[in-house]
Amino acid sequence: MSKFYITTSIAYVNADPHIGHCLEYVQADVVARYHRIKGDEVFFLTGTDEQSLKNAQAAEKAGLSVEDLVMKYYQRFKEIGRLLNISVDDFIRTTEGRHIKGAQKLWLACQKDIYKKTYQGLYCVGCEEFYQEAELVDGFCPDHQVKPELIKEENYFFRLSAYQDQIKKNLESEVIEIIPRFRKNEILSFIDRDLEDICISRSRERSRGWGIDVPGDPTQKMWVWFDALSNYINALGYSGDENNFDQWWQKNDDKLHMIGKGILRFHALYWPGLLLSANLALPKKIFVHGYLTIEGQKMSKSLGNVIDPFELIKKYGTDPVRYYLLREFSSFQDGDFSIGRLEKRYQDDLAHGLSNLIHRVLSLVWNNRGLFNLEKLSLDAGHSRPAKRGGNLDSRKILDPRLRGDDKIKTIETYNNLLENFEFNKVLDLVWTVIKETDQKIDQLKIWELAKTDSEKFVLESVSLIESFYFIAYLLKPFLPETSEKILELIKMDKEPVPLFK
Ligand SMILES: [Zn+2]
Repeated sequence: MSKFYITTSIAYVNADPHIGHCLEYVQADVVARYHRIKGDEVFFLTGTDEQSLKNAQAAEKAGLSVEDLVMKYYQRFKEIGRLLNISVDDFIRTTEGRHIKGAQKLWLACQKDIYKKTYQGLYCVGCEEFYQEAELVDGFCPDHQVKPELIKEENYFFRLSAYQDQIKKNLESEVIEIIPRFRKNEILSFIDRDLEDICISRSRERSRGWGIDVPGDPTQKMWVWFDALSNYINALGYSGDENNFDQWWQKNDDKLHMIGKGILRFHALYWPGLLLSANLALPKKIFVHGYLTIEGQKMSKSLGNVIDPFELIKKYGTDPVRYYLLREFSSFQDGDFSIGRLEKRYQDDLAHGLSNLIHRVLSLVWNNRGLFNLEKLSLDAGHSRPAKRGGNLDSRKILDPRLRGDDKIKTIETYNNLLENFEFNKVLDLVWTVIKETDQKIDQLKIWELAKTDSEKFVLESVSLIESFYFIAYLLKPFLPETSEKILELIKMDKEPVPLFK
């Protein structure tokens, strides 16, 4: 069984999760579930970034201890993951012992490239990053619209410049593949402006005592990105379970980081630099999604347009929110979140499209159930027997007879291709084409008339339609896992059918 390692970025826990976090969770979850269906051994990691300065500041503001603040938001992130039905295998907090030990081990492994110097720079706490004067917009951070703090300190630096050529070569030759390609070009042009060494620590005072100690120097705390990036290896046992770490990181070629566009530099430049310095294996792929605006405006607390994902899921349900996030936007570009669009998608695609199609046919079958051997139908439809491992998504060796047939094989091939390329919205376009075609077939057959005029044909066509529903459930599985299960339940036909969505 081949191993597949997938991570999301880890969230700062100074505020509640927003819809952008949900987008990344849901995208990563589709990929993880797809690989499980394919038969890979999957390890899906997410977590929370708790050592940052802005968490300490947020705690001060809220009148809480930093420990209490990060605990509060860690629980909120964990909860939103559960509500979105995210199938993570592990959740790492950067305040855990395994992470602290790992971050310090990585520091020591990079020691030959770490030096101390006095430095003056402009630091945006929101970004947890130093800025060059030229990168600011009228003196303000382009992301946070605040003036960065002028910091003058003696800090540790990492000799990133020493790895410039190696990093560039690895990106160009796609030893590390960046998806989509235009992001790769962005980062390569950034390297061409020459990489400067990066500051990787801050004074204990500036950190308000929060953060991970620099090994051997209690006056300094690690820069939060240094420790945060190491979460990806710490969860695998970098410091503690060497065998597991070896199997999942060092010897595994299939390692994917899923991130937002704002943190590409950290993942495509700094992270490989640290790994090269520590003589560790590199990640294989970095997938970069865009950002969401809300009803045409940048998401911001001051504009009061932050969508509460907890409320959203409560109102519309898990799968409709997943569906909207995966269907509405390109996987790679920025998108605009709109409640109106979500409701339209819900009505058109889920209630009228998918639910109506299945309910129409199953109700007809149920009302004419005397014509069927329902027990046999239930067996044929196969219900929730899990897909056999290692084959069903590979069209050359489809083991499940219900997925055979030229049309289905062709669809599965396109589906796999799109999914391998992270084209989530296009995969769902494809699935909804199948749904539309099935709908048209019903109208052409006038199946409700057949039920009265030609019972033999009615039975045959119904069975074939129920097979199509099995196929649809199968295709939906990584995207709308609960709905997929419900369809498989419904086509057992052992009770009166109910609509999936109203
Ligand atoms: Zn900023």
